[in-house]
Amino acid sequence: MISYKLVKYEGYKNKILELDGDVLSEHYEKNQENRKPDDTGECILCGKGIKNTITCKAIVATGGNMYNFIHKDDVEFAESPENKDGGFMGAWNVGPECFKKIKHIPEIKNYCYK
Ligand SMILES: [Zn+2]
Repeated sequence: MISYKLVKYEGYKNKILELDGDVLSEHYEKNQENRKPDDTGECILCGKGIKNTITCKAIVATGGNMYNFIHKDDVEFAESPENKDGGFMGAWNVGPECFKKIKHIPEIKNYCYK
């Protein structure tokens, strides 16, 4: 099971959801290569193409770590010029397979949502 921490970061009002780094697929690059032209998105955690419905959107921040998600109430701030977080990467998608691995996290709805 994927573990996680809620961590306070400078600037953000709410804590950052930091997933265990092991959540990232070791096949990331291979998965990206295997993407189909009609995929509508790409999973931030494994690189696999996403078809049709996007399971959820996550906002990635702090240090450019793909497994650090910011709280939905901090999105407006995150996208504003006041945000000095150089690692802010904007909104990404999480595919259905990876979402299964993190949906047990009680606070997940605040960090990964449609
Ligand atoms: Zn994935």
